[in-house]
Amino acid sequence: MKNKHYEYVIVGAGLSGLTAAAYLTKAGYSVLVLEKTPTYGGLLNSFSREGYVFDAGARAIENSGIIRPMLKDLGIEMELLSSPVSIGVESQVISIVSKESIDLYRQALQTLYPDNVDDVRKIFRKIEKVYKEMHVIYGFENPVFKNFRQDKRYLFKELLPWLGRFLLAVSRMERMNEPVETYLKKVSTNQSLIDIIDQHFFKRTPTFFALGYFYVYLDYLYPKGGTGKLPEKLVQKMLENGGELQVNTEVKTISLAKKLVQDGNGQSYSYDKLLWCADLKSLYRNLDTSGLGADVVGSITTESEKILASRGGDSVFSLFIGVDQPPQAFASITNGHVFYTPSRKGLGETHLSELKNLLAKGKDACKKEEIRAWVTTYCALTTYEISIPSLRDASLSPEGKTGLVVSFLLEYDLVRLVNDAGWYDEFKLWVEDGMIKTLNQSLFPGLFDTIELRFSASPLSIEKKFGNSEGGITGWTFELPSPVVNMLQKIPDSVKTPLPDVLQCGQWAYSPAGIPTAILTGWYAADSICTSRESDRKKAKKIRLRNEYKRTYPV
Ligand SMILES: Cc1cc2nc3c(=O)[nH]c(=O)nc-3n(C[C@H](O)[C@H](O)[C@H](O)COP(=O)(O)OP(=O)(O)OC[C@H]3O[C@@H](n4cnc5c(N)ncnc54)[C@H](O)[C@@H]3O)c2cc1C
Repeated sequence: MKNKHYEYVIVGAGLSGLTAAAYLTKAGYSVLVLEKTPTYGGLLNSFSREGYVFDAGARAIENSGIIRPMLKDLGIEMELLSSPVSIGVESQVISIVSKESIDLYRQALQTLYPDNVDDVRKIFRKIEKVYKEMHVIYGFENPVFKNFRQDKRYLFKELLPWLGRFLLAVSRMERMNEPVETYLKKVSTNQSLIDIIDQHFFKRTPTFFALGYFYVYLDYLYPKGGTGKLPEKLVQKMLENGGELQVNTEVKTISLAKKLVQDGNGQSYSYDKLLWCADLKSLYRNLDTSGLGADVVGSITTESEKILASRGGDSVFSLFIGVDQPPQAFASITNGHVFYTPSRKGLGETHLSELKNLLAKGKDACKKEEIRAWVTTYCALTTYEISIPSLRDASLSPEGKTGLVVSFLLEYDLVRLVNDAGWYDEFKLWVEDGMIKTLNQSLFPGLFDTIELRFSASPLSIEKKFGNSEGGITGWTFELPSPVVNMLQKIPDSVKTPLPDVLQCGQWAYSPAGIPTAILTGWYAADSICTSRESDRKKAKKIRLRNEYKRTYPV
């Protein structure tokens, strides 16, 4: 088959790849985006089933000073609805609609743990501090989306004063880098209280990132039509600008010296530069380095060893249900996005030593009933994230009915073990049953009898569909040292690789990751290309002028 040539080939039509594509096509370059799955958006996508629209990935999108300015910069019109969050433990469900409502959550925790009133106060003082720093970092429209060179008033009156505050806030945040579990253990000895706060987060999440969620809860937006509208708009923009998107195309080989990628059907695409916006382990596993110099191969081997030794971060189990009850029945209990823990007891050792013991037995020695018992306890004690799309946009469920996405963090290794043992489908049903039973007995009485549609996705589904290592939903684990850039001031460097003419972006390029940094790294990758092309153009112009001068005035 004949090679197809593009200036820029982008692998992965997730948010990072699509952001890079939108900016590169805006600058007039020829761009092809290759995507493994039948659609675009990667982890951020919505789909419909029997009249219900569900969000498969993030249940809402945090603005972070990024979403609105980026849309404006790209000239994209998109309706963004407000998306208030609720937080609840047992019967205490607090609607978080302003900074003051965070204090109501503090009071609820003090009621639930009357012997630890002071511990709770200390934790919330820390949350208050983190909130202020988050407000500095994310409350300001990110300057990368502003053309500030031409706006002197903005530059001197707004940007420069903010920059000082930003650097200070970032350095203070970096001092709160210890895992949130460690921080909480210093403040309280009540394991249940510690769990109730920390089981919302990934294992060993840095304290500033975890406690910063109280800011994020107030910053969430919901695109009208579902979260998948954001990638849809980016795709429309890049197609309008002349870019191309090819779905159902998995890149299988990257030949660095030939500047060529090949898909599963043997079709090759040559590039001037390649942007890898997908899982980095699959990039390093599929490299062809023949024809490169020994020093380049040496740097690639070092990087490859670092990447392949790391692990994808925590993953989720998501249950999608259609319920024959109107949205109002749920609106009287909670907002459309809720973080709910059914018991104040906390997970304790359930998800740590008990799970570790089960995993250590391996698939042959681990008994089905042991795992089933573990699942039952886990469902009763863990923290749920529940999304009700039609409480934010009524058009997202059939008249008089409600769609819910119920999820919690679930260990990839457990699902892998069950799959290898041959009873994955059965396991999925136990988890679904455990989730429904728990919510039926707590937050949503009557749920069980009104469900008319249900299906689920596990960490393994995420790994299979998107190729994400260990089903990771926000890049690398916090349990090992980060193999990529992990300081906000250094985020522009996160897109560099030791591979000639290859840039990387997205959730595997920077840690801690998520929607805002996927977008930012996509922007930085496009910007570094545009800047180097501009400087090449200037250099070429200088040489041309010098040569013309020499020809006109020979010595
Ligand atoms: C349930 C859930 C909840 C979340 N909640 C939040 C949240 O509240 N806040 C937040 O900030 N983030 C959240 N996230 C994470 C966030 O959605 C992701 O970090 C972000 O969307 C990642 O974008 P990306 O472009 O880096 O990668 P991805 O979205 O993973 O895109 C990569 C794309 O590359 C494709 N691909 C992979 N390999 C190949 C190949 N060889 N050839 C061609 N294509 C390939 C994949 O199919 C995929 O489409 C959540 C994610 C999930 C799943």
